[in-house]
Amino acid sequence: EMKTESKKPDSARSELAMKYFQAEYGHFINGEWVGGSSSEKIAMINPANLEVLSYIQSGNAEDVNRAVEAATQAFPKWSRSTPSERQAALYEMARRLRARANDYAAMLSLDNGKPIMEALHIDIPATIGQFELFAGAAFGLHGQTIDATQGVAIIHREPLGVVAQIIPWNVPLVMMATKIAPALAAGNTIVLKPAESVCLAVMEFIREMADLLPPGVLNVITGYGPNVGEALVTHPNVRKVAFTGSRPTAQKLMQYASVNVIPQTLELGGKSANIICADADMDAAAESAAMSIVVNKGEICFAATRHFVHESVMDAFVEKVQNILRKIRVGDPMIPSTQMGPQASRMQFDKVLGYLDIGRNEGATTAMGGKRATVSGFEQGYFIEPTLFTDVRNKMRIAQEEIFGPVGVVIPWKDEAQVIREANDTEFGLAAGLWTKNITQAHRMAREIEAGTVWVNRYFNTIPNVPFGGYKQSGFGREFSLDVLSHYTQLKSVIVSLQEGPIGLFDH
Ligand code: NAD
Repeated sequence: EMKTESKKPDSARSELAMKYFQAEYGHFINGEWVGGSSSEKIAMINPANLEVLSYIQSGNAEDVNRAVEAATQAFPKWSRSTPSERQAALYEMARRLRARANDYAAMLSLDNGKPIMEALHIDIPATIGQFELFAGAAFGLHGQTIDATQGVAIIHREPLGVVAQIIPWNVPLVMMATKIAPALAAGNTIVLKPAESVCLAVMEFIREMADLLPPGVLNVITGYGPNVGEALVTHPNVRKVAFTGSRPTAQKLMQYASVNVIPQTLELGGKSANIICADADMDAAAESAAMSIVVNKGEICFAATRHFVHESVMDAFVEKVQNILRKIRVGDPMIPSTQMGPQASRMQFDKVLGYLDIGRNEGATTAMGGKRATVSGFEQGYFIEPTLFTDVRNKMRIAQEEIFGPVGVVIPWKDEAQVIREANDTEFGLAAGLWTKNITQAHRMAREIEAGTVWVNRYFNTIPNVPFGGYKQSGFGREFSLDVLSHYTQLKSVIVSLQEGPIGLFDH
């Protein structure tokens, strides 16, 4: 549905679309909204009813060059801005977001399909949290000195310059904040590329916050990944790329980044294991499995998607998950009581339906859901029933490949060594869950799991300033914590000699 249109947006938009969004968004370059150098537009579609919400520009290399030029010009001054200036801008972003939390939640809901209450209670606070964390960090960024007899070393922590940031469509505001807040706090200037399928809340955020930063500090180019991405990441003035998205795109970015030898942080996908031991709190464990299927319709990189359940509690676990899923209210995401909305785009919808067939063909049992959901009044929407597969083996495609939809698979286990081996038998390593009351076993197993985050006895238990990122092919670099500042700064060691005159090596 991300069709490209050459005509100008018409006025056939719904009242809701007109309430929250402009008819069209330009690129944001040097503090101004500008048209694209091509007349191609991309229609932004509401995945619940397929209405056109707005149009964005389909950017190209020429647009990218203008944005990088603006960011390059803005860097010398911004890199020397005071911590209070940076802190003030970041706190004000948090304050304005909080003041209009309901509006931003509605925008996310219309654009991405996530339930409005979920956006309000998960996305918006997480976004605000990033701005507040890095607003505080602006004053904490400083160098170091080291004294020695031969001299004094002053180690400056300096920003990198222009950074390229490429974000996905599943949690657009959180991803934007996770990228721009640390980069700004550290004094870098930015060219941000949001996802072409969902980015309207990001564009509205940029519109509302435009007065908070000097022109050129934060620029936004929209468009299709390959058209914008290669020009951006290979531009000689770009000093770093930060990316969240899929592994195939990350592989391309690594090639682009090799052109000018720039560093990267990559947050990629997952196929996270959730290990349920015989003594686990079964209600809590079942709830975590249901959450991973339902929250953001499963479009969450760190959702638990492989549930390894001890065979002695398999039936109880499956029954409990079924009981929760049976009552999930799938429907119009703008209604406050809705618990699950449509997949974000046609592409995701087709991909998930494809995996439902793959699972059945591989011999898995559909314990729950397994097909398109029909929602009255929204018959065209990309709704899928919350789905649970049982009788799954870890070698099946539905247990190895990232589905990124409301689908969980259940795999039985007998002994600890076996379940650790199977949990780690994946190319990914983003997160894992572990459910047991045995503290010794919990620590022992957590050590063995190859994942950047291991949650014991509560999944999705995110804590501000705790590092988040992947092992293995889930990427590298850590975000959501102050550690990320090391990825947005570089160290310069100025060594001042305390001795005068020549060393005395040669005859004068
Ligand atoms: P994607 O890689 O296709 O797109 C992500 C972004 O990259 C978009 O802005 C897109 O336009 C851009 N892009 C695409 N091709 C590009 C190219 N050649 N050069 C530069 N940019 C390019 O991924 P997607 O399918 O839109 O997103 C879903 C994936 O993202 C899932 O695999 C999910 O697991 C992952 N994800 C990971 C995290 C995390 O924190 N690890 C968070 C959210 C999503």
